[in-house]
Amino acid sequence: MAYEGICVKCGKCKGVCPTYGILKREDLSPRGRVHLATLVRDGIDVDFEYSASTCFLCSACEEVCPQRVKILDHILLLRSRLSYPVKLSVLKLLISGTRVTSFGLNSGVAFFPGCIYSNMGKYVLESAIASMKFIFGGIDLIEGICCGFPFRIYGKSYEFDAGILDRYNLILTVCATCSHELKRKIGFDRVLDFLELIDRHRDYFEKRVSIKDKVTFHYPCHLIRGVMDRGRVDRILKVVFRDKFIPMKEEICCGFGSSNIDNLADRASINILKSAMVTGSNVILVDCPSCHLEIEKVRLKNSMPFTISHIATVFG
Ligand code: SF4
Ligand code: SF4
Repeated sequence: MAYEGICVKCGKCKGVCPTYGILKREDLSPRGRVHLATLVRDGIDVDFEYSASTCFLCSACEEVCPQRVKILDHILLLRSRLSYPVKLSVLKLLISGTRVTSFGLNSGVAFFPGCIYSNMGKYVLESAIASMKFIFGGIDLIEGICCGFPFRIYGKSYEFDAGILDRYNLILTVCATCSHELKRKIGFDRVLDFLELIDRHRDYFEKRVSIKDKVTFHYPCHLIRGVMDRGRVDRILKVVFRDKFIPMKEEICCGFGSSNIDNLADRASINILKSAMVTGSNVILVDCPSCHLEIEKVRLKNSMPFTISHIATVFG
C-alpha cells in the first residue's frame, strides 16, 4: 500500500466518528485530529485541546482507514501535551497498593478485575469469583493494579509490574479494556475476557442464568475491536440467554474516553439507552466498568427505567 500510515485525507473515517457525527466539525473528525497532531509534532502553535480532549478513543476510525493510519497514536500524542491533574490523582488513588487474595485451590489462574471494579465493584467481584472458583477450583484475586489504558487516556504512561502475573497460566478479567490491553501485553491466549469464559464454559453458565427479564448487551469498543467481533458476542449470548437476549441494532461508544466537554459523551450514551429501549428489554448487560459508569450516569440524569448490570452478576 502506497504511503501506508500517511493520511491521504480521503475522509472515510469521518463517517464512523461519533464526535464528528454529533457536531460535524472538521477538527472533531479523525482526519482533523491527525492533521492537528502533525502540526503540533512539527512545532506549529495551534489550539488542539478541545479536539484532543473530546475524542472518545473508540478506534472506529482506525478500523475503516484504508491507509492504516495510527490515528489513536496521533490523538494520544496531543493528549500527552495536556495536563489532567485531578483525573490522574484519582487514578493513582485507585491503584495504591497491590493485594493478592486466594480463593480455593491454587489453580494457576488469576482474576484481574482492574482499577475501577477493584474499588467500586464489590458485587461484580463476588459474582465473578463465585463462577471462577467453581470452574477452576480456585483463583487468586489481584487488586489495586491497572492495565495502563486509563493513564494513556490522560496522556501518561503507566506500566504495571508484569512479574506479579508471571506465576499464572491464565488471567481472567471482567473489563473489556483490561482484556484488550493485557492480551497485547502478556499474550492473547493467556488472558480471557469474561465473555470468553462464558463461551468456554457454556454449559455452566447456561444452567445458572438467574434473570427472568429480557436482556440486551452494550458492545464495548475494546471488546468488539480487538477481543472478539460482534457476531461472536451475539452467538455466545444467544446460546446462554436464548430468546431472552435481544441485541441492540447499533454499536455505540459510551464516550468515557473523552472529557465530556459540551456533554458529547452523554449525548452518545443517551443513544445507547434509546437503542436499548427499542429492544424492549429493561436490563442492559455490560462488560466494562467505564461503560457501566457512563451509561448509568446518563440513565440517572434522564430517569430512564433500566437496570445496568455487569454480565458476571446474572448467574446464580
Ligand atoms: S485518517 Fe485514514 S480514513 Fe481518515 S482521511 Fe486519513 S487516510 Fe482517510
Ligand atoms: S477514536 Fe473515535 S472519537 Fe476519536 S477520532 Fe476516532 S472515531 Fe472519532
